[in-house]
Amino acid sequence: MGKKAGKDDIGFRNKCICQRCPTYNDCMRKSGELLYCLEKKSSCKMEKYGCVCPSCPVASMKGFGGAYFCQSGKAVLE
Ligand code: SF4
Ligand code: SF4
Repeated sequence: MGKKAGKDDIGFRNKCICQRCPTYNDCMRKSGELLYCLEKKSSCKMEKYGCVCPSCPVASMKGFGGAYFCQSGKAVLE
């Protein structure tokens, strides 16, 4: 498939379910942040209210375990 990372990322962006997460807050929304597991952690302050990453299609497609990528940043394959 080669280096179509940009295009793939757009597809993944649409699949990221962070916006349905109780932890996802106004700052994150305003900053347009998403896809923390593939990009980077959030620059917003946050309180943890749960994480829906374990039920996200991106996580299962990529084989990512874990949660709270908005705090920890890019996922590391286990
Ligand atoms: S695993 Fe979490 S951060 Fe990554 S795309 Fe899914 S909801 Fe977003
Ligand atoms: S990374 Fe997890 S905790 Fe953070 S906003 Fe996305 S689903 Fe919620």
